[in-house]
Amino acid sequence: MYNATAYSAASATSPLAPTTIARREPTERDVQIEILYCGICHSDVHHVRDEWKDTMPTVYPIVPGHEIVGRVTKVGSAVSQYKTGDLVGVGCLVDSDLSCSACQDDLEQLCPNQTLTFNAPDKHLGGVTYGGYSESIVVDEHFVLRLPDTLDLAGVAPLLCAGITTYSPIRRWGDITGKKVGVVGLGGLGHMGVKFAKAFGADVVVFTTSPGKKDAARALGADDVVVSRNADEMEKHAGSLDFILDTVSAPHDINVYLNLLRHDGNLTLVGAGEKPLEVSPFSLLFGRRTLSGSIIGGIAETQEMLDFCGTHNITADVEVIPIQKVNAAYERMLKSDVKYRFSIDMASLKSE
Ligand code: NAP
Ligand code: ZN
Repeated sequence: MYNATAYSAASATSPLAPTTIARREPTERDVQIEILYCGICHSDVHHVRDEWKDTMPTVYPIVPGHEIVGRVTKVGSAVSQYKTGDLVGVGCLVDSDLSCSACQDDLEQLCPNQTLTFNAPDKHLGGVTYGGYSESIVVDEHFVLRLPDTLDLAGVAPLLCAGITTYSPIRRWGDITGKKVGVVGLGGLGHMGVKFAKAFGADVVVFTTSPGKKDAARALGADDVVVSRNADEMEKHAGSLDFILDTVSAPHDINVYLNLLRHDGNLTLVGAGEKPLEVSPFSLLFGRRTLSGSIIGGIAETQEMLDFCGTHNITADVEVIPIQKVNAAYERMLKSDVKYRFSIDMASLKSE
């Protein structure tokens, strides 16, 4: 074991503050990574504040962060794909059983024995796993991703969660070329959803609660932008969308979006607000619509997404901050006051 500097929260109401955590020495299958940037996902906030206590109660202290990019500093003797100096990424998963039917289908994100990057039982050291708000991390090479070397690293970090979470359901839907696709919520996930839907040739409508994001949404490539609190603007799209990606992090009326779908349309939920959503049966029965969910993506698909981003020059739009501003960043994210993702420059941790 060795010590690493990190930021952790001691309770659901405590701010994040500097601390020291233990990391394992790399085993033969492990890659040790010096973390350069870590994105701030809304899931970090949900976890730190124990908002998912009914499903995934938080164990304190918690070190969040699952949008990790960094440089390899050491590899175990059996590691074949990475070497010291490589630029790599780590997303929401650091382990799975690699033998169940989900893993055999390259769907590690659906493995019942998966280990999340933070707040999950740590098989090596006991206690729970610690995430990317730290100077280094040690990960089994299967869960390490290769990064395109042409892209800005601060903007690559959010691809490891916001990127794959939006890429995966869009790809799964099928050929969306020329289809009308709605993206609900223009935050970290939503803005990546717009970029991917446009890259795959869709006609994209953004639904936002923030009138101030209208121009910015168009600049991202949206063909139309609807302020969702304006019933007239919503009505114009009734029954017309093929697919909607709902990225909202808070309670909202999902029925108004289901009613925007054409027949056989699908709404895929990726947002994970803490409270149950109410669905009217008629929102689904009329139009034979479907409602589904999606969670991140498998390792092979995450690599495919990163390679796609390299080819198409896609990164997240980020505001880079030192880690000392992380608590203020959480408050700003909750007010939708970031375009569109905070990315922590982990060099700032060296001054702690
Ligand atoms: P985010 O950057 O905070 O974006 C969420 C957006 O939702 C906001 O920018 C805002 O967009 C909209 N919104 C916020 N409060 C709202 C309200 N009361 N009513 C309607 N709209 C509201 O968060 P994120 O990082 O993109 O994450 C979004 C959600 O996805 C979170 O719940 C997160 O935990 C979850 N998530 C899920 C997965 C998965 O695998 N399924 C992965 C990562 C994250 P406007 O200002 O445009 O309205
Ligand atoms: Zn995330």
